[in-house]
Amino acid sequence: MNNKLYDRLIFELSSPGRVGYHLPKNQFPHHELRKDVSRTKAPALPECDEMTVVRHYTNHSGNNFGVDNGLYPLGSCTMKYNPKINEEAANHPAFVNLHPLQPASTVAGAQALADELKKMLCEITGMGAVTLKPCAGAHGELTGLMIIRGYHESRGDFKRTKVLVPDSAHGTNPASAAVCGLDVVEVKSKEDGTVDVDDLATKLDDTVAAMMMTNPNTLGIFEHNITKIVEMVHKCGGLMYYDGANLNPLLGVCRPGDMGFDVIHLNLHKTFSTPHGGGGPGSGPVGCRKELESFFPTVNPYQGNFLVEMRAWAYILSLGYEYIKKVGPTATLNASYIKAKLQDVYELPIKGLSKHEFVFNGLTDKSTGVTTMDVAKRLLDYGYHAPTIYFPLLFHESMMIEPTESESLESIDGFVAVLRKIAEEAKTDPELVKTAPHNAPISRVDDVLAAKNPVLTYPENP
Ligand SMILES: *Cc1c(COP(=O)(O)O)cnc(C)c1O
Repeated sequence: MNNKLYDRLIFELSSPGRVGYHLPKNQFPHHELRKDVSRTKAPALPECDEMTVVRHYTNHSGNNFGVDNGLYPLGSCTMKYNPKINEEAANHPAFVNLHPLQPASTVAGAQALADELKKMLCEITGMGAVTLKPCAGAHGELTGLMIIRGYHESRGDFKRTKVLVPDSAHGTNPASAAVCGLDVVEVKSKEDGTVDVDDLATKLDDTVAAMMMTNPNTLGIFEHNITKIVEMVHKCGGLMYYDGANLNPLLGVCRPGDMGFDVIHLNLHKTFSTPHGGGGPGSGPVGCRKELESFFPTVNPYQGNFLVEMRAWAYILSLGYEYIKKVGPTATLNASYIKAKLQDVYELPIKGLSKHEFVFNGLTDKSTGVTTMDVAKRLLDYGYHAPTIYFPLLFHESMMIEPTESESLESIDGFVAVLRKIAEEAKTDPELVKTAPHNAPISRVDDVLAAKNPVLTYPENP
């Protein structure tokens, strides 16, 4: 149980004159700072003793929730368990003490491992070349689109400015295309969640630079028309971009390169054993067909996030050729099991086979007024992280569930039981669900207010 006193802001625990640490007596001559760079008044720093500071941060760290605390079924984010041995490998002094500006002759070993990782990623994705420089998925998307733009421009073809993006796509796809100065054109999905090929046909012409896709898509549905789609886009002169942020369902089973994709990015921090969420560090390697390698842009003067790369390297080697093939099918089995166990009480808008993740459209019984937001908040009371909610935008009450391959049967059964219990509560005591969470450190926040009027500094802080 947390001690509420230490849960307050560190500024609220401040008491004038309290100190946690005394600096040693200055033994150097006094040096006056230039007036234009000195403060006019002292900063309003919290004044606390060491014990207060330790308790404050220790208690706050206990309020955090991560994969190491419990099941984290955040669809499209692949919050799988990151084995600690990969942390240990990446933590090797020979890796952590490297400096990005060290002469190349002193880092030949590290370079060799990065090259080995590139080779493994080429093999896994079916690409001819890989760069490890991009530091996030979105960074990889931008890099990939710059390759595509560079390719078209090298042929003197400047009119290709259109990027086709399915309406189920991850939000970073249209955003990256826009940042790259390209125009986004949405392609509709059909009832079954796959790309509407007829709609696609109407949007193909000689202004198409590329089509961005992910397969299985964000609904967890495999685009069974993929070879036809690739053929159509290639025929009109466009290139195919594969968003491989969530490579999990495909690992060792099938490859974007074999489906006909020309350029891809991966998120090492989702699929390859780097804890993520909270903003980094990440790694979004980009792969392409060998002929496109000369269009790799300089998006980062260094080698990317080397320690994230080393976790991925260790992770791939630890699974090996044999076990990497089990990741996708196990992730798919886990997701399908949850779907089958819950589809009588949660509305399943898209029937049929899905892969590593799937989407419910809230509770089947809408008469209780209990929304997806309420279910998500109630899950926190039971010690589970909520799924991705209100995404994809195709349904009003989306709950996107991705358990990953790392969860045990017991853990998944526990999650299923809790979601069934919440569905029951929605019937018998809807108020209880609508006012959740009841056991979390804070109750429901007004997230519109937080976005519109963020208070990011303590008011008394200048
Ligand atoms: C997470 C994700 C991205 C973006 O990755 P970041 O590292 O957060 O920039 C892109 N596409 C899909 C499908 C994703 O799930």
